[in-house]
This record gives sequence, structure tokens and C-alpha cells, in this order.
Amino acid sequence: MSRAFNFSAGPATLPEVVLRQAQEQMLEFDGAGASIVEMSHRGPEFIAVAQQAEADLRRLLSIPEDYAVLFTAGGATAIQALLPLNFAAPQQRVDYVLTGHWGKTAVKQASPCAQVSIAASSEDSGFTRIPPRDSWQLGADAAYVHITDNETIHGVQFDGAPDTGKVPLFADFSSSIASAPLEVAKYGLIYAGAQKNLGPVGISVVIVRRELLERSGQPRAEIFNYRAVAARDSMLNTPPTWNWYLLGLTVRWMLEQGGVEHFARLNAEKSAAVYAAIDGSGGFYRNDVVPAARSKMNIPFFLPDDTLTARFVSQASQAGLLALKGHQAVGGIRASLYNAMPLAGAHALAAFMADFQQRNG
Ligand SMILES: *Cc1c(COP(=O)(O)O)cnc(C)c1O
Repeated sequence: MSRAFNFSAGPATLPEVVLRQAQEQMLEFDGAGASIVEMSHRGPEFIAVAQQAEADLRRLLSIPEDYAVLFTAGGATAIQALLPLNFAAPQQRVDYVLTGHWGKTAVKQASPCAQVSIAASSEDSGFTRIPPRDSWQLGADAAYVHITDNETIHGVQFDGAPDTGKVPLFADFSSSIASAPLEVAKYGLIYAGAQKNLGPVGISVVIVRRELLERSGQPRAEIFNYRAVAARDSMLNTPPTWNWYLLGLTVRWMLEQGGVEHFARLNAEKSAAVYAAIDGSGGFYRNDVVPAARSKMNIPFFLPDDTLTARFVSQASQAGLLALKGHQAVGGIRASLYNAMPLAGAHALAAFMADFQQRNG
């Protein structure tokens, strides 16, 4: 067996030790005579797994006590749809800052249930920058301000939390959660699908200041009510237990590696190696994002034409560098460098890029 370097944007590479541990425990969990995936979510084994995962995530991200942590199914997109239902009054204003594809998805999901106002957008420049904070048109009566911390397709990333005054800041951290330290208290709500940087697809995390759960929101079924979800420890119905378990293993691995400070250093080093390969190519490779907004997690870049792009993707794959094809919305190449991607993977990619250019430039 040989595991390649997998640059997939999501579902994405997981640490090999996590996969091995899951493999070892697949048939029998911890002497229980059954797999964790075969047990009741209300039994002591799974309750312990779930509580440990939450405790470890709280430690990893330094989540304050006055924040609830919810584990949900339906992905980040379902959360985007539930934000106005839970936190905005019917047709209340909500402010969205667009810095790429996923911000637009968030708007699309919120639009039926709120009066969405685009506070700022960098779409006219092809989503290559963060609109300067002083250009944002924010409403004092908005229920929240929504940003996408890291735009997974366009490769545009915020550097910290922008100040939104008294209106709580909601942030989609799907592709950047736990990639570096963050100050949770600066956000009203943080959410992330797990399949980029926290584990497997099928489970998502919502970190929300508890006082926001007191908002009445809009008429909705109990299962979509985050106050009820929090009150029942994310177990109103059967949660995705296997995914929760795998998330727990992944978070534990991150703590053991040295936590978010460790990954911030590692991710800076990995992304610097790939950006250096792009910027040092004399224009053969091109990334259009302004340097201050360049993502450390997802690096889109372009070759001179489509034939070279296709050749790059296929030869890279043969060289053990998988899933480098860019998202169809922008084309080109995309390298995702989540926490589970080792430094050696980024160096192997940079070396392949130099070699490919030499042969084709
Ligand atoms: C992948 C992604 C999403 C969508 O996630 P799903 O779990 O597929 O709904 C939303 N936002 C960002 C930033 C993403 O990277």
C-alpha cells in the first residue's frame, strides 16, 4: 500500500494515524464487543466519545464557556440556510460580505428567510481581495454580519476577525477552522463542515455565543432549532456517530501534534513553499490574489493554457500528487494544504512544479 499526497479540497486528506486507529477499532470498539458505529448514541460508550470530542475541540480552539458547541448533519450549506431562521426575525436585515463562491452560497441559502444586504463584495475584481473594512455598508439593525473566513475555491482568506461593532459577526470557517489560533470571543457564531480540516464529511460544527440562542428567530421545526439542539447536546435525533467519532480522533491528533499554534507555523511554511514556486516561475504559474489576502489553506493557480493544465494534473497524479484539478468555477489548479497535509507534501508539489515548468515552459 502506498498513500499519495492528496491535495483534495474536500473531502480531504486525513492523518494516517487517525485512519489506522479507526481501522483497528472498526470491528470492536474498546472491548465493547461491537463497533462504535453499531452502538446506541445514548449508550455510555458513544456518550463518552461525543463528550471527549467536544472537550478536545474546546481545548484545541480555546472556546470560552459562554459558547455552545453543536454537532450537526447537513453540512455547512444546511447551516447557511438555518442561520436566518435561528438568529433573524422574519425579513430582518442580515449583512453579507462576499469574498468568493461560498459567500454567494450563503446568500442564496439565507435569501428566502431574511432581507439579505450585500455589505461588500470583491466580485468585480474576480474575488482576488478582501474589500477594505471602511468600504462595508453595515446596518445597525442587521441581525448579524456574515463573512467567509477562507474562500476554498478562490483562495482568499481573512486575517483575523473584522470589527462589526454591536452586530454579531458570523463566520464560515469550513476550510480554515483549527488551521491557526483564532479569538472565538470576537465572533457571535463560527461554523464549519468537518470534511476540510476537522475530519470526515457528514458532520459539522457550530460554535455559538449562548446568549444568541435566546433570540426567537423564525417559526421552524424543533429539529432546526439550535436552542433545542444545544439543550439536548446535539442529540435531538440520531447524530452521525461514526463521523463524530472520526472527528474526535482527528481533533485529538491535532492536540497531540501541538495544537493550533503548531499548525499555524506548519501551514505558513507549507503555503510559503507553494507560493514561492508560483512567484518564482517568471509567470509560468499565476495566482491573482493580492498577497495580503492569499489563503494558507487553498492555493488556486493557473498555467498558460488548458492543455498544459490537463497535462499538469495528470502527470502530478502519476507522481503521487493527487486531486490538483481546480474547481470548475475558476479552472486551473488548486492545491489544498489542510492540517493533515505534511510539509513534505508541499515540498513535493513545489519540486514537481519546478520540474514540470522545466519540461514544458
Ligand atoms: C465546502 C464548503 C462549504 C460547503 O460545505 P458542505 O458541507 O458541502 O455543505 C461551505 N463553505 C465553505 C467555506 C466550504 O469550503
